[in-house]
Amino acid sequence: MPNNEKGCLWVVATPIGHRDDMSLRAIEILRSVALIAAEDTRHSRPMLLQHNVGTPLVALHEHNEREAVASLVRRLEHGESIALISDAGTPLISDPGFRLVRAAREAGIRCMPVPGACAAIAALSVAGLPSDRFVFEGFLPPKTAARRSRLEELAGDPRTLIFYESSHRIVESLADMRDVFGAEREAVLARELTKMFETVIGEPLSQLAARVVSDPDQQRGECVILVAGRGEETDAKVAEGQRVFAILRDELPPAKAAKLAAAITGAPRKLLYGDKGEG
Ligand code: SAM
Repeated sequence: MPNNEKGCLWVVATPIGHRDDMSLRAIEILRSVALIAAEDTRHSRPMLLQHNVGTPLVALHEHNEREAVASLVRRLEHGESIALISDAGTPLISDPGFRLVRAAREAGIRCMPVPGACAAIAALSVAGLPSDRFVFEGFLPPKTAARRSRLEELAGDPRTLIFYESSHRIVESLADMRDVFGAEREAVLARELTKMFETVIGEPLSQLAARVVSDPDQQRGECVILVAGRGEETDAKVAEGQRVFAILRDELPPAKAAKLAAAITGAPRKLLYGDKGEG
């Protein structure tokens, strides 16, 4: 541990399922710090005890973050080292901790990562989708209109798209992805990674959406959805979609023509008729 009058803030990854996905260094640091700031202390205590970590815990979650951050930074300034963990995986990745890390850095506290599990990266590593460039989108908005509009913003992105989704919205989200990105766009559903019912299924969005609707088991547990970026295949579909759109537009209102052209060719509707392709 660096020699520093102030304490250090260690940002420590914990498992996303399998208890052994905890690094030796993570265990050593969690044992050595004065305090562990955890999203849910009742959730984390048993996991820590499995690794013989008996360090005192304090809660840091979205509802107490403001007060908790001020008191944790004071303790760090007085020389205590603190570890930050979340319920699972890497803190700050769709989890609390950003305000603490920011405040600690502003106070001149050294912040050090102890890397480990992260569901997005674990999913990407086995998805078989291009991994040289990707974008992590976290959770989509829960309401349909906002979700679709976020997806429409991403329809032309050539990078692999990574989303977190809760099991009770998986059906709606996959249907929206199919409609916005096109039925043929390749996607992967990575569920329950590192756990007993781990499954990783890759197929075109139309098939994946239909499979999840018809199989309630695929609607359970925790999941990551990955979608291939817009590729050459999509470019060819867009060219075909534009050709069909031009024909239909002579006979139909443009929004209707775009919707039909998208359905016929599999081209994303937004790429045929901008943001106006509703209806
Ligand atoms: N900080 C975590 C990380 O590093 O991955 C993510 C926390 S976020 C609140 C929880 C979401 O991560 C879940 O809803 C799911 O989308 C994803 N997730 C977490 N564990 C997972 C697992 N074992 N398999 C698949 N997805 C998982």
